[in-house]
Amino acid sequence: MPGFIKELLNLLYPPLCVVCGRKLIAGEEQLCSACLYALPRTRFHAERQNPVCDRLFGKVPFEKATAIFYYQKESYMQCVMESFKYKSNRQLAFYLGTYAGMQLSKQGFFEQIDLILPVPLHKNKEKWRGYNQSELIAKGLACRSGLPVDSSSLERLLENPTQTRRGLWERSQNVQQLFKLRSPDNLVGKHVLLVDDVLTSGSTMEACGNALLEARGLRLSFFALALA
Ligand SMILES: [Zn+2]
Repeated sequence: MPGFIKELLNLLYPPLCVVCGRKLIAGEEQLCSACLYALPRTRFHAERQNPVCDRLFGKVPFEKATAIFYYQKESYMQCVMESFKYKSNRQLAFYLGTYAGMQLSKQGFFEQIDLILPVPLHKNKEKWRGYNQSELIAKGLACRSGLPVDSSSLERLLENPTQTRRGLWERSQNVQQLFKLRSPDNLVGKHVLLVDDVLTSGSTMEACGNALLEARGLRLSFFALALA
């Protein structure tokens, strides 16, 4: 979009903070500085052993794992997640991916990782929403790390259940057959960073991870934007 059209649009429809609704000033994107600063940060991505690792430990073998925010109900983070999950704010998902990418780069988190792979949505769900929010987060991370994003090797075979049924679903055995690795040869010997928006019980990461490990010599690491 040419600069002057963007400026005109900004004048007519000034961008607002997705949390507090205040008009954004130059240099701010999606969130005002106060709301961005107030998001609950984990600050543990520099630690090799952290609560994300604890959540995934014993489920699937992995190299490193982290999240940069905490997800709490009725918090700023819930507001942010709802905006990009249910209100079509794809720019916000990408923006938070770039923000996370910057934090992770500083700590050398991307070292030895070969590619970034978002947790796929079922194709019907993606069609309905119009995008996969984890893929947008992954693209934001890629923007800061220079790593490629692979959105095609892993396929989701079943629809995601509603949030309320999630607990039961995640405990079920079926979760293990949710994903299928389409082209294992592409991922042989690669170190893959698997990306999701929120980490809850870890069952989705586990199911994805197990599908990915069908590729010979594959190594896994995990990133979630938020830890619930
Ligand atoms: Zn704000």
